[in-house]
Amino acid sequence: MRKITLFGATGSVGQSAIDLIARDQNSYDVVALTGGRNVAQLAADAQRLNADVAVTCYPECYAELSELLSGTGVEVAAGPGAIEEAAARPVDWALSAIVGSAGLVPGLCALKHGTKLALANKESLVTAGPLLLGTADAHNATVLPVDSEHSAVFQALVGEDMAAVERVIITASGGAFRDWPAEKLATATLAQASSHPNWDMGQRITIDSASMFNKAMELIETKEFFSVSPDMIEVLVHRESLIHAMVGFHDGALMAHVGPPDMRHAIGYALHWPDRRALPVERLDLAKIGALTFEAPDNARYPALALAKRVMQEGGLSGAIFNAAKERALDGFIAGDIGFLDMAKVVAATMDKMSSFDGLQNVEITLDSVLETDKLARVRAGEAIKTLG
Ligand code: NAD
Ligand code: MG
Repeated sequence: MRKITLFGATGSVGQSAIDLIARDQNSYDVVALTGGRNVAQLAADAQRLNADVAVTCYPECYAELSELLSGTGVEVAAGPGAIEEAAARPVDWALSAIVGSAGLVPGLCALKHGTKLALANKESLVTAGPLLLGTADAHNATVLPVDSEHSAVFQALVGEDMAAVERVIITASGGAFRDWPAEKLATATLAQASSHPNWDMGQRITIDSASMFNKAMELIETKEFFSVSPDMIEVLVHRESLIHAMVGFHDGALMAHVGPPDMRHAIGYALHWPDRRALPVERLDLAKIGALTFEAPDNARYPALALAKRVMQEGGLSGAIFNAAKERALDGFIAGDIGFLDMAKVVAATMDKMSSFDGLQNVEITLDSVLETDKLARVRAGEAIKTLG
């Protein structure tokens, strides 16, 4: 039996992982499941999978979770500290599927125990890539990609020499507004930005897909995870979302990963790695699909992509600034304080203000420096929102 923990078990990625685990429950000993306000889901899954502990990140949800799980033998805890404690319980495999930079600390904590960390939480790589991967190295732990593009690249690289890699192409569906005239984007509402043409995902990543901030983060994630130089990474708009990424080699060959837009694919690959096991995903009928299309992204339409390039050039803590400003700007858009196009303006203004801050690029990337930068960037982004609002 493999001991496993799922951070963000109640979310979109977490639920896909639970679907796989529940089909083969006798192979897993579930240690911890964590979630947020959806305590009914958390309690039901903890009971069904016989978890040792269920943790909500919100202390105010403790009483309700306790009541739901009383008499079941599942321990209950609440708050960020309790998630960290749960992350310190040794397991063989953990899924990092919390949304936002809140996923960083539990991920680091799991890696310190030598865990195989299946990483959906791209924000931790954007915010603190060298810290996360350095911690994995120092503790003989492994980080496995779960973001579909990065899982695809990882799979295309099996048995290959990194020295033969010429380019890495990650695909983008184009998001909710790919067919909108650019002039109309400023009027995009929250409801319109919250629906994705191909993938069924959490609300935040769905809006990030419409603005291309998701792809921007994935560019940085690619650079960090595979240690490739930024000029080797390309974004390609592919509206069918069937090819998730391609790796180009110096003999001109392109290895593409093709599969249905179903996160159980990437989660399942990371769950069974280094083996490849049968997964309950749709088998593609390519004759029926007929054609796959590709377009270059329109950079003028998607300022997030240029901001990601800037982060990759600046390095240091600029990823932490970028991510925190983006998270704050997204909060502002969800709250109705700013418009859709203002999100990129807020991130750019925050980066302008903070990246020029003398010495910031040379500060060592430690947990303290990252958390402090994250906090400050949210304040600066909040100020930028006020000027725009
Ligand atoms: P979601 O919003 O559906 O779920 C997020 C989970 O994190 C929930 O369990 C929630 O309770 C928990 N959570 C939220 N805030 C928290 C906090 N402050 N502390 C602790 N837990 C907290 O999100 P999702 O769509 O499942 O995405 C999760 C992560 O995976 C994100 O980093 C996202 O970018 C990445 N990802 C998602 C998909 C997808 O298909 N949904 C694909 C690739 C990558
Ligand atoms: Mg992705």
